[in-house]
Amino acid sequence: MQIVFTEAQLGHHPSGFLVRGQRQPCPEIPARAMVLKEAAESRGHRLVAPESYGPGPRAAVHTPRYLRFLETAHERWQALPGASAEVIPNVHPNGRRAGYPESVVGQAGYHMADTACPLASGSWAAITASADTAVHAARLVQAGAPAAYALCRPPGHHAFADMAGGFCYLNNCAIAATELRRTASRVAILDVDLHHGNGTQGIFYRRADVLTVSIHADPANFYPFFWGHAAERGEQAGEGYNLNLPLALGSGDEPFLAALDRALGEVRLYAPEALVVALGLDAYEGDPLAGLKVTTPGFEEICRRIGKLRLPTVLVQEGGYPSPELGRNLVASLKGFEEGLRV
Ligand SMILES: [Zn+2]
Repeated sequence: MQIVFTEAQLGHHPSGFLVRGQRQPCPEIPARAMVLKEAAESRGHRLVAPESYGPGPRAAVHTPRYLRFLETAHERWQALPGASAEVIPNVHPNGRRAGYPESVVGQAGYHMADTACPLASGSWAAITASADTAVHAARLVQAGAPAAYALCRPPGHHAFADMAGGFCYLNNCAIAATELRRTASRVAILDVDLHHGNGTQGIFYRRADVLTVSIHADPANFYPFFWGHAAERGEQAGEGYNLNLPLALGSGDEPFLAALDRALGEVRLYAPEALVVALGLDAYEGDPLAGLKVTTPGFEEICRRIGKLRLPTVLVQEGGYPSPELGRNLVASLKGFEEGLRV
């Protein structure tokens, strides 16, 4: 399978975030992308670099003022007296009833859901390279490849049209799906990351042309808390085109695969012309975020079943944090997917 990757994504080094009020080192580090790249390369997958697609693909998903904020916030923040090296929000518009502030401090609170999406000097270049990686994989599939894997970093599925969160800035899956929609009348996004794909859900919540399905740890007691519940089924034209399958914390392969079969049934019923998989590997039993207990053979089987859909597919890297098996879990996932395609 073609692996889309560029080292331009490595210039983003978030230093930390708050977990239960304590500052912790950020696990979404450049090294995790290198581990995934080297693991894929070692199994003979062919690496290709993305082209630069300019502002068009991201502007098709995100609002102008959010994009302006992401691009300019770091420089404006640095001009403030006593500012930290990274843009980190500390004041938020409760319920967003307020107007849009001029201040970059106010805008940070408006556009950032949490402290896990700091912006430093190299962030914007890495964020746009990550989006270009997703676009390039979508273009490969549009050009006839049965599938392509976008090794995107930073990840994207927590990013809404106008809000960053959970290590995510631009929604790479939504950008890939929007690219695919240029030639496909219906696209499905299947999210198997440990966390609910809240940004993806938010972007397509009122639309019927992109089905969003997410399997994740129950948000009643897990990030992103405010979204991902089973009752969220879409609104207006999108009603019935969003499916959330929350799992009890600590669930392993068996409940995950049962939820996956339900998700795949929903995708088949929708009959999309193309598929985007939000391929998080953080549901792994040894992942430092410790929410679910999927095993390495579990990932292989998950991706085998997804491959059996035999849809033109863009696999987009989402979460999956440093553990000794991170690379192995990607290799198992790609192997399972390719076997599924061949069945
Ligand atoms: Zn995740």
